[in-house]
Amino acid sequence: MKVTSESLLVRYSTLLGKTEIKRLQDKAKNYAEKDILNINATKFGGGVAEILQNMIPLMQELKINAQWKVFTAPDSFFEISKKMHNALQGNMEIQFSDNEISIYTSQAKSIYEQIQPKGDFIIIHDPQPCPIINFKEKKEGKWIWRCHIDTSNPNPQAWNLIAEYLPKYDALVFTKEEYAKKGIKNLIYPITPSIDPFSEKNKELDLKSAREIVKKFIPLDKPLITQVSRFDPWKDPLGVIDAYRIVKAKIPIRLALIGSLAHDDPEGQEWLEKVKNYANDDPDIHILSNLDGVADLEVNAFQRISNVVLQKSIREGFGMTVTEALWKETPVIGGNVGGIKLQIENGINGFLVNSIEETAERVIYLLNNPKILKEMGKKGHEKVKREFLLTKHVENYLDLFSVLLK
Ligand code: UDP
Repeated sequence: MKVTSESLLVRYSTLLGKTEIKRLQDKAKNYAEKDILNINATKFGGGVAEILQNMIPLMQELKINAQWKVFTAPDSFFEISKKMHNALQGNMEIQFSDNEISIYTSQAKSIYEQIQPKGDFIIIHDPQPCPIINFKEKKEGKWIWRCHIDTSNPNPQAWNLIAEYLPKYDALVFTKEEYAKKGIKNLIYPITPSIDPFSEKNKELDLKSAREIVKKFIPLDKPLITQVSRFDPWKDPLGVIDAYRIVKAKIPIRLALIGSLAHDDPEGQEWLEKVKNYANDDPDIHILSNLDGVADLEVNAFQRISNVVLQKSIREGFGMTVTEALWKETPVIGGNVGGIKLQIENGINGFLVNSIEETAERVIYLLNNPKILKEMGKKGHEKVKREFLLTKHVENYLDLFSVLLK
Protein backbone atom coordinates (compact mmCIF):
# COMPACT_ATOMS: atom_id res chain seq x y z
CA MET A 1 0.00 0.00 0.00
CA LYS A 2 1.37 3.40 -0.95
CA VAL A 3 1.74 6.11 1.61
CA THR A 4 1.18 9.11 -0.66
CA SER A 5 -0.04 9.73 -4.16
CA GLU A 6 3.19 11.51 -5.10
CA SER A 7 4.82 9.96 -8.16
CA LEU A 8 6.81 6.89 -7.23
CA LEU A 9 9.39 7.70 -9.87
CA VAL A 10 9.97 11.12 -8.37
CA ARG A 11 10.50 9.56 -4.98
CA TYR A 12 12.88 6.97 -6.40
CA SER A 13 14.77 9.73 -8.22
CA THR A 14 15.30 11.54 -4.96
CA LEU A 15 16.51 8.36 -3.31
CA LEU A 16 18.67 6.87 -6.05
CA GLY A 17 19.51 9.73 -8.40
CA LYS A 18 18.06 10.80 -11.73
CA THR A 19 20.44 8.72 -13.90
CA GLU A 20 19.30 5.48 -12.34
CA ILE A 21 15.63 6.27 -12.92
CA LYS A 22 16.15 7.65 -16.41
CA ARG A 23 17.79 4.36 -17.40
CA LEU A 24 14.79 2.47 -16.05
CA GLN A 25 12.35 4.74 -17.92
CA ASP A 26 14.29 4.34 -21.15
CA LYS A 27 14.11 0.56 -20.89
CA ALA A 28 10.44 0.68 -19.96
CA LYS A 29 9.61 2.68 -23.10
CA ASN A 30 10.03 -0.52 -25.12
CA TYR A 31 7.20 -2.07 -23.15
CA ALA A 32 4.74 0.82 -23.06
CA GLU A 33 1.21 -0.55 -23.22
CA LYS A 34 2.49 -4.15 -23.23
CA ASP A 35 0.45 -6.51 -21.09
CA ILE A 36 2.30 -8.27 -18.29
CA LEU A 37 0.21 -10.69 -16.29
CA ASN A 38 1.35 -12.15 -12.96
CA ILE A 39 -0.43 -15.19 -11.56
CA ASN A 40 -0.05 -16.61 -8.06
CA ALA A 41 -1.96 -18.36 -5.31
CA THR A 42 -2.44 -15.72 -2.64
CA LYS A 43 -3.06 -11.99 -2.28
CA PHE A 44 -1.72 -12.00 1.24
CA GLY A 45 1.12 -13.44 3.29
CA GLY A 46 4.60 -14.35 2.20
CA GLY A 47 7.13 -12.81 -0.09
CA VAL A 48 5.42 -13.20 -3.48
CA ALA A 49 2.33 -11.24 -2.48
CA GLU A 50 4.57 -8.62 -0.90
CA ILE A 51 6.55 -8.18 -4.11
CA LEU A 52 3.57 -8.08 -6.46
CA GLN A 53 1.55 -5.56 -4.50
CA ASN A 54 4.45 -3.14 -4.82
CA MET A 55 5.72 -4.03 -8.27
CA ILE A 56 2.42 -3.59 -10.12
CA PRO A 57 2.03 0.14 -9.27
CA LEU A 58 5.65 0.87 -10.20
CA MET A 59 5.31 -0.90 -13.56
CA GLN A 60 2.05 0.92 -14.18
CA GLU A 61 3.70 4.24 -13.49
CA LEU A 62 6.28 3.23 -16.09
CA LYS A 63 3.28 2.91 -18.45
CA ILE A 64 3.53 -0.85 -18.64
CA ASN A 65 0.17 -2.54 -18.39
CA ALA A 66 1.03 -4.82 -15.46
CA GLN A 67 -1.68 -6.95 -13.86
CA TRP A 68 -1.84 -9.47 -11.07
CA LYS A 69 -4.42 -12.22 -10.80
CA VAL A 70 -4.91 -14.65 -7.94
CA PHE A 71 -6.75 -17.93 -8.41
CA THR A 72 -8.87 -19.86 -5.95
CA ALA A 73 -8.81 -23.60 -5.38
CA PRO A 74 -10.20 -26.04 -2.82
CA ASP A 75 -8.32 -26.64 0.45
CA SER A 76 -7.37 -30.11 -0.74
CA PHE A 77 -5.35 -28.48 -3.53
CA PHE A 78 -3.49 -26.16 -1.14
CA GLU A 79 -2.70 -29.09 1.19
CA ILE A 80 -0.96 -30.76 -1.73
CA SER A 81 0.67 -27.64 -3.11
CA LYS A 82 2.16 -26.88 0.32
CA LYS A 83 3.49 -30.44 0.40
CA MET A 84 4.93 -29.78 -3.03
CA HIS A 85 6.57 -26.59 -1.75
CA ASN A 86 8.13 -28.52 1.15
CA ALA A 87 9.25 -31.35 -1.10
CA LEU A 88 10.80 -29.02 -3.67
CA GLN A 89 12.61 -27.29 -0.85
CA GLY A 90 14.23 -30.59 0.07
CA ASN A 91 11.96 -32.66 2.32
CA MET A 92 12.87 -36.14 1.09
CA GLU A 93 10.31 -37.96 3.25
CA ILE A 94 7.33 -36.59 1.38
CA GLN A 95 5.65 -38.87 -1.14
CA PHE A 96 2.73 -38.10 -3.39
CA SER A 97 0.01 -40.67 -3.99
CA ASP A 98 -1.56 -41.07 -7.44
CA ASN A 99 -4.65 -39.36 -6.07
CA GLU A 100 -2.66 -36.33 -4.86
CA ILE A 101 -0.88 -36.05 -8.19
CA SER A 102 -4.19 -36.17 -9.94
CA ILE A 103 -5.68 -33.43 -7.71
CA TYR A 104 -2.63 -31.22 -8.31
CA THR A 105 -2.56 -31.63 -12.07
CA SER A 106 -6.30 -31.63 -12.71
CA GLN A 107 -6.74 -28.33 -10.86
CA ALA A 108 -4.70 -26.67 -13.61
CA LYS A 109 -7.63 -26.59 -16.03
CA SER A 110 -9.84 -24.81 -13.52
CA ILE A 111 -7.07 -22.31 -12.72
CA TYR A 112 -6.58 -21.63 -16.42
CA GLU A 113 -10.29 -21.11 -16.95
CA GLN A 114 -10.62 -18.78 -13.97
CA ILE A 115 -7.69 -16.62 -14.99
CA GLN A 116 -7.91 -16.86 -18.79
CA PRO A 117 -4.34 -15.70 -19.14
CA LYS A 118 -3.68 -13.19 -21.87
CA GLY A 119 -0.74 -10.88 -22.33
CA ASP A 120 2.61 -10.24 -23.92
CA PHE A 121 4.37 -11.77 -20.91
CA ILE A 122 2.72 -14.16 -18.49
CA ILE A 123 4.59 -14.72 -15.25
CA ILE A 124 3.54 -17.77 -13.26
CA HIS A 125 4.73 -17.68 -9.66
CA ASP A 126 5.73 -20.82 -7.81
CA PRO A 127 4.62 -24.44 -8.20
CA GLN A 128 0.89 -24.10 -7.51
CA PRO A 129 -0.12 -22.77 -10.96
CA CYS A 130 2.89 -24.17 -12.87
CA PRO A 131 0.92 -26.86 -14.81
CA ILE A 132 -1.45 -24.35 -16.40
CA ILE A 133 1.12 -23.91 -19.17
CA ASN A 134 -0.40 -27.10 -20.62
CA PHE A 135 -3.40 -25.07 -21.74
CA LYS A 136 -1.44 -22.25 -23.34
CA GLU A 137 -2.61 -21.36 -26.78
CA LYS A 138 -0.10 -20.64 -29.52
CA LYS A 139 -0.93 -16.99 -29.91
CA GLU A 140 -0.43 -16.21 -26.24
CA GLY A 141 2.78 -14.30 -25.41
CA LYS A 142 5.94 -15.39 -23.66
CA TRP A 143 5.49 -17.53 -20.57
CA ILE A 144 7.86 -17.29 -17.62
CA TRP A 145 7.90 -19.56 -14.58
CA ARG A 146 9.16 -17.63 -11.57
CA CYS A 147 10.22 -20.05 -8.83
CA HIS A 148 10.76 -18.38 -5.47
CA ILE A 149 11.83 -21.56 -3.68
CA ASP A 150 15.33 -22.86 -3.04
CA THR A 151 15.14 -25.93 -5.29
CA SER A 152 18.85 -26.76 -5.22
CA ASN A 153 18.24 -30.13 -3.58
CA PRO A 154 14.64 -31.11 -4.27
CA ASN A 155 12.74 -34.28 -3.50
CA PRO A 156 13.09 -36.17 -6.82
CA GLN A 157 9.41 -37.15 -7.08
CA ALA A 158 8.30 -33.52 -6.66
CA TRP A 159 10.92 -32.25 -9.09
CA ASN A 160 9.90 -34.82 -11.72
CA LEU A 161 6.30 -33.66 -11.39
CA ILE A 162 7.26 -30.05 -12.05
CA ALA A 163 9.95 -30.87 -14.61
CA GLU A 164 7.31 -32.17 -16.98
CA TYR A 165 5.97 -28.62 -17.47
CA LEU A 166 9.20 -26.63 -17.51
CA PRO A 167 10.28 -27.21 -21.13
CA LYS A 168 7.08 -25.50 -22.27
CA TYR A 169 8.07 -22.21 -20.65
CA ASP A 170 10.03 -19.58 -22.55
CA ALA A 171 12.15 -18.80 -19.50
CA LEU A 172 12.62 -19.93 -15.92
CA VAL A 173 13.48 -17.35 -13.30
CA PHE A 174 15.16 -18.44 -10.08
CA THR A 175 16.59 -16.27 -7.31
CA LYS A 176 19.94 -18.00 -7.79
CA GLU A 177 21.14 -19.86 -10.85
CA GLU A 178 22.19 -22.80 -8.69
CA TYR A 179 18.52 -23.41 -7.73
CA ALA A 180 17.89 -24.67 -11.26
CA LYS A 181 18.54 -28.36 -11.65
CA LYS A 182 21.19 -29.31 -14.15
CA GLY A 183 19.78 -30.64 -17.39
CA ILE A 184 17.17 -27.92 -17.84
CA LYS A 185 17.35 -26.76 -21.43
CA ASN A 186 15.25 -23.58 -21.24
CA LEU A 187 16.59 -20.13 -20.66
CA ILE A 188 17.43 -19.79 -16.96
CA TYR A 189 17.51 -16.23 -15.75
CA PRO A 190 18.43 -15.35 -12.16
CA ILE A 191 16.59 -12.39 -10.61
CA THR A 192 16.64 -11.50 -6.93
CA PRO A 193 13.52 -10.20 -5.19
CA SER A 194 13.37 -6.71 -3.78
CA ILE A 195 11.63 -4.42 -1.33
CA ASP A 196 9.71 -1.21 -1.84
CA PRO A 197 11.32 1.46 0.35
CA PHE A 198 8.12 3.55 0.33
CA SER A 199 5.61 0.89 1.33
CA GLU A 200 4.02 0.91 4.79
CA LYS A 201 6.39 -1.88 5.71
CA ASN A 202 9.56 -0.08 4.75
CA LYS A 203 8.85 3.64 4.77
CA GLU A 204 10.73 6.02 7.04
CA LEU A 205 9.45 5.92 10.57
CA ASP A 206 11.10 7.92 13.32
CA LEU A 207 12.29 5.89 16.27
CA LYS A 208 9.94 7.59 18.70
CA SER A 209 6.86 6.66 16.67
CA ALA A 210 8.22 3.16 16.09
CA ARG A 211 8.68 2.66 19.82
CA GLU A 212 5.16 3.88 20.50
CA ILE A 213 3.79 1.34 18.04
CA VAL A 214 5.77 -1.56 19.47
CA LYS A 215 4.88 -0.56 23.05
CA LYS A 216 1.25 -1.33 22.26
CA PHE A 217 2.26 -4.97 22.03
CA ILE A 218 5.21 -5.44 24.37
CA PRO A 219 7.11 -3.50 27.05
CA LEU A 220 10.38 -1.99 25.89
CA ASP A 221 12.26 -2.55 29.12
CA LYS A 222 14.84 -5.05 27.81
CA PRO A 223 16.77 -5.60 24.59
CA LEU A 224 14.56 -7.06 21.89
CA ILE A 225 15.25 -9.68 19.25
CA THR A 226 12.66 -10.37 16.57
CA GLN A 227 11.97 -12.87 13.84
CA VAL A 228 9.24 -12.05 11.31
CA SER A 229 8.20 -15.18 9.40
CA ARG A 230 5.32 -17.38 8.46
CA PHE A 231 4.90 -20.12 11.08
CA ASP A 232 6.70 -22.77 9.16
CA PRO A 233 9.28 -25.47 9.98
CA TRP A 234 11.81 -24.12 7.45
CA LYS A 235 11.91 -20.80 9.33
CA ASP A 236 12.97 -22.75 12.45
CA PRO A 237 10.92 -20.84 15.04
CA LEU A 238 11.69 -23.50 17.67
CA GLY A 239 15.42 -23.05 17.04
CA VAL A 240 14.91 -19.32 17.53
CA ILE A 241 13.33 -19.98 20.94
CA ASP A 242 16.24 -22.26 21.88
CA ALA A 243 18.75 -19.56 20.93
CA TYR A 244 16.77 -16.96 22.89
CA ARG A 245 16.89 -19.24 25.97
CA ILE A 246 20.68 -19.45 25.80
CA VAL A 247 20.93 -15.65 25.55
CA LYS A 248 18.39 -15.11 28.31
CA ALA A 249 20.50 -17.12 30.75
CA LYS A 250 23.13 -14.38 30.39
CA ILE A 251 21.32 -11.17 29.40
CA PRO A 252 17.74 -10.09 30.14
CA ILE A 253 16.00 -10.04 26.78
CA ARG A 254 12.66 -10.26 24.99
CA LEU A 255 11.85 -12.25 21.86
CA ALA A 256 9.13 -11.31 19.39
CA LEU A 257 7.99 -13.94 16.90
CA ILE A 258 5.78 -12.30 14.32
CA GLY A 259 4.09 -14.48 11.77
CA SER A 260 1.19 -13.98 9.45
CA LEU A 261 -1.11 -16.77 8.39
CA ALA A 262 -1.04 -16.92 4.58
CA HIS A 263 -4.09 -18.13 2.68
CA ASP A 264 -2.17 -20.76 0.76
CA ASP A 265 -0.38 -22.10 3.83
CA PRO A 266 -2.47 -24.68 5.67
CA GLU A 267 0.47 -25.55 7.95
CA GLY A 268 0.47 -22.08 9.50
CA GLN A 269 -2.13 -22.66 12.21
CA GLU A 270 -0.61 -25.98 13.26
CA TRP A 271 2.85 -24.41 13.53
CA LEU A 272 1.52 -21.41 15.41
CA GLU A 273 0.19 -23.85 18.04
CA LYS A 274 3.52 -25.71 18.12
CA VAL A 275 5.43 -22.48 18.66
CA LYS A 276 3.04 -21.39 21.44
CA ASN A 277 3.46 -24.71 23.22
CA TYR A 278 7.21 -24.54 22.89
CA ALA A 279 7.28 -21.01 24.33
CA ASN A 280 5.55 -22.47 27.36
CA ASP A 281 4.03 -19.22 28.65
CA ASP A 282 7.40 -17.50 28.96
CA PRO A 283 6.33 -13.88 29.59
CA ASP A 284 9.31 -12.57 27.60
CA ILE A 285 8.37 -14.43 24.42
CA HIS A 286 5.77 -12.55 22.40
CA ILE A 287 4.05 -14.49 19.65
CA LEU A 288 2.08 -12.16 17.44
CA SER A 289 0.28 -12.45 14.14
CA ASN A 290 -1.85 -10.41 11.78
CA LEU A 291 -4.79 -11.56 13.92
CA ASP A 292 -3.36 -9.51 16.81
CA GLY A 293 -3.22 -6.40 14.65
CA VAL A 294 0.40 -6.71 13.57
CA ALA A 295 0.19 -5.45 10.01
CA ASP A 296 2.73 -3.77 7.74
CA LEU A 297 3.35 -0.64 9.80
CA GLU A 298 3.74 -2.68 12.98
CA VAL A 299 6.22 -5.02 11.26
CA ASN A 300 8.10 -1.92 10.11
CA ALA A 301 8.29 -0.69 13.71
CA PHE A 302 9.42 -4.04 15.13
CA GLN A 303 12.14 -4.45 12.50
CA ARG A 304 13.30 -0.90 13.16
CA ILE A 305 13.57 -0.90 16.92
CA SER A 306 14.71 -4.48 17.53
CA ASN A 307 18.33 -4.59 18.58
CA VAL A 308 18.84 -7.57 16.32
CA VAL A 309 16.62 -9.32 13.79
CA LEU A 310 16.88 -13.08 13.33
CA GLN A 311 16.08 -15.16 10.28
CA LYS A 312 17.23 -18.56 11.38
CA SER A 313 15.90 -20.41 8.34
CA ILE A 314 17.02 -23.89 7.42
CA ARG A 315 16.17 -23.24 3.76
CA GLU A 316 15.31 -19.85 2.32
CA GLY A 317 14.76 -18.93 -1.33
CA PHE A 318 15.60 -15.30 -0.62
CA GLY A 319 14.22 -14.02 2.68
CA MET A 320 12.66 -10.60 2.21
CA THR A 321 12.46 -10.24 5.96
CA VAL A 322 16.24 -10.03 5.91
CA THR A 323 16.16 -7.28 3.26
CA GLU A 324 13.51 -5.38 5.20
CA ALA A 325 15.48 -5.42 8.45
CA LEU A 326 18.78 -4.51 6.78
CA TRP A 327 17.06 -1.56 5.09
CA LYS A 328 16.09 -0.31 8.54
CA GLU A 329 19.70 -0.44 9.70
CA THR A 330 19.11 -3.42 11.95
CA PRO A 331 21.77 -6.13 11.72
CA VAL A 332 20.45 -9.60 10.88
CA ILE A 333 21.64 -12.94 12.16
CA GLY A 334 20.50 -15.43 9.56
CA GLY A 335 20.81 -19.08 8.68
CA ASN A 336 23.76 -19.74 6.37
CA VAL A 337 21.53 -20.85 3.53
CA GLY A 338 20.11 -19.93 0.14
CA GLY A 339 19.10 -16.33 -0.45
CA ILE A 340 20.17 -15.21 3.02
CA LYS A 341 23.76 -15.68 1.83
CA LEU A 342 23.13 -13.17 -0.95
CA GLN A 343 22.23 -10.55 1.60
CA ILE A 344 24.20 -11.00 4.78
CA GLU A 345 27.91 -10.39 4.45
CA ASN A 346 29.20 -12.26 7.44
CA GLY A 347 30.62 -9.88 10.03
CA ILE A 348 29.83 -6.82 7.87
CA ASN A 349 26.06 -6.28 8.06
CA GLY A 350 25.16 -9.25 10.26
CA PHE A 351 26.16 -12.85 10.78
CA LEU A 352 25.54 -16.12 8.96
CA VAL A 353 25.03 -18.93 11.44
CA ASN A 354 24.94 -22.71 11.34
CA SER A 355 23.58 -23.63 14.75
CA ILE A 356 21.46 -22.55 17.69
CA GLU A 357 24.58 -22.00 19.82
CA GLU A 358 26.19 -19.82 17.16
CA THR A 359 22.98 -17.79 16.87
CA ALA A 360 22.97 -17.14 20.62
CA GLU A 361 26.68 -16.31 20.63
CA ARG A 362 26.24 -13.73 17.87
CA VAL A 363 23.23 -12.13 19.59
CA ILE A 364 25.23 -11.77 22.80
CA TYR A 365 28.18 -10.34 20.87
CA LEU A 366 26.03 -7.68 19.19
CA LEU A 367 24.17 -6.74 22.37
CA ASN A 368 27.52 -6.28 24.10
CA ASN A 369 28.96 -4.20 21.25
CA PRO A 370 26.47 -1.46 20.40
CA LYS A 371 28.98 0.52 18.33
CA ILE A 372 29.66 -2.43 16.04
CA LEU A 373 25.93 -3.15 15.91
CA LYS A 374 25.27 0.38 14.66
CA GLU A 375 28.03 0.22 12.06
CA MET A 376 26.71 -3.10 10.78
CA GLY A 377 23.23 -1.62 10.54
CA LYS A 378 24.51 1.15 8.26
CA LYS A 379 26.30 -1.34 6.02
CA GLY A 380 23.10 -3.36 5.68
CA HIS A 381 21.13 -0.33 4.53
CA GLU A 382 23.76 0.52 1.91
CA LYS A 383 23.75 -3.01 0.53
CA VAL A 384 19.98 -3.06 0.12
CA LYS A 385 20.09 0.35 -1.55
CA ARG A 386 22.64 -0.92 -4.07
CA GLU A 387 21.15 -4.32 -4.80
CA PHE A 388 17.66 -5.06 -3.57
CA LEU A 389 15.27 -2.20 -4.27
CA LEU A 390 12.23 -2.59 -6.50
CA THR A 391 13.59 -0.42 -9.32
CA LYS A 392 16.45 -2.87 -9.88
CA HIS A 393 14.00 -5.77 -9.77
CA VAL A 394 11.77 -4.22 -12.46
CA GLU A 395 14.82 -3.42 -14.57
CA ASN A 396 15.92 -7.05 -14.38
CA TYR A 397 12.51 -8.17 -15.66
CA LEU A 398 12.70 -5.65 -18.51
CA ASP A 399 16.12 -7.03 -19.45
CA LEU A 400 14.66 -10.54 -19.45
CA PHE A 401 11.79 -9.43 -21.69
CA SER A 402 14.24 -8.02 -24.19
CA VAL A 403 16.24 -11.26 -24.19
CA LEU A 404 12.99 -13.14 -24.86
CA LEU A 405 12.04 -10.91 -27.76
CA LYS A 406 15.39 -11.20 -29.49
N1 UDP B 1 5.40 -11.02 6.68
C1 UDP B 1 4.54 -10.13 7.32
N2 UDP B 1 4.01 -10.47 8.50
C2 UDP B 1 4.31 -11.63 9.10
C3 UDP B 1 5.19 -12.54 8.46
C4 UDP B 1 5.73 -12.20 7.24
O1 UDP B 1 4.25 -9.06 6.82
O2 UDP B 1 3.79 -11.86 10.16
C5 UDP B 1 6.00 -10.60 5.41
C6 UDP B 1 7.45 -10.24 5.59
O3 UDP B 1 7.55 -8.92 6.09
C7 UDP B 1 7.97 -10.40 4.16
C8 UDP B 1 7.16 -11.58 3.66
O4 UDP B 1 5.98 -11.65 4.46
O5 UDP B 1 7.68 -9.26 3.40
C9 UDP B 1 7.92 -12.88 3.78
O6 UDP B 1 8.81 -13.00 2.75
P1 UDP B 1 10.08 -13.95 2.85
O7 UDP B 1 10.79 -13.88 1.54
O8 UDP B 1 10.92 -13.58 4.04
O9 UDP B 1 9.49 -15.40 3.14
P2 UDP B 1 8.34 -16.32 2.50
O10 UDP B 1 7.15 -16.16 3.39
O11 UDP B 1 8.09 -15.84 1.10
O12 UDP B 1 8.90 -17.70 2.58
